[in-house]
Amino acid sequence: MDKTYYDLLELFSESGCPICSYKKTFEEQSLDGLFYEFVTDPEIRQKLRNQGGFCQDHLRRVFDARPSILGISIVYEDLLNTSLKNENYPVINHCPLCQIWKDKIHHLENILQKRWKDFKSIWGEYTFFCTVHQNEIKLTSSIRSELQELTLKSLKNIDENLKSFIQKFDYQAKKDTITIEESNSWQEVLEFFAGQRLRKSHHIHSRK
Ligand SMILES: [Zn+2]
Ligand SMILES: [Zn+2]
Repeated sequence: MDKTYYDLLELFSESGCPICSYKKTFEEQSLDGLFYEFVTDPEIRQKLRNQGGFCQDHLRRVFDARPSILGISIVYEDLLNTSLKNENYPVINHCPLCQIWKDKIHHLENILQKRWKDFKSIWGEYTFFCTVHQNEIKLTSSIRSELQELTLKSLKNIDENLKSFIQKFDYQAKKDTITIEESNSWQEVLEFFAGQRLRKSHHIHSRK
């Protein structure tokens, strides 16, 4: 099995959606490579110009991750310049990071499909598939239903923590007894609905 398998496996024992966690780190790491190519290879920069740059979601990722301030400046000066010469620019938007992720998803689906038992056995108490990835990741219906069952179980655990958190938060005297799991719970719920990792992600070491 390749590195992706081990990186993914680790995330399945942790709280939150493993796909969201994987995606966040994967995107940040991919940006380093992309910006290196944009700066050093004019042909690839031309391609990005035709693609209309990054989508809105990923521009935010670019802003947060800041793979290279100089690289970003060069690339976006180029796009701004194109836009100033052509008021209809960009006509289309084919975000390069969306494309890379699309390709990567097939890889993840294959691994999950082949080694589902491993992932199932390591599934954590607060591990779930978010609203987005329950639909985006295509798996056989039997795996899918197991996955939904495990997700449901974790969401119930999170709900218990959240209820307890609210109660303790309400009573000043009990605030000291709030556990890490309880204070994590409201963040986990937001991630479930957001379909993205909002907390600081764990570091995975894979490249593309
Ligand atoms: Zn997710
Ligand atoms: Zn995108």
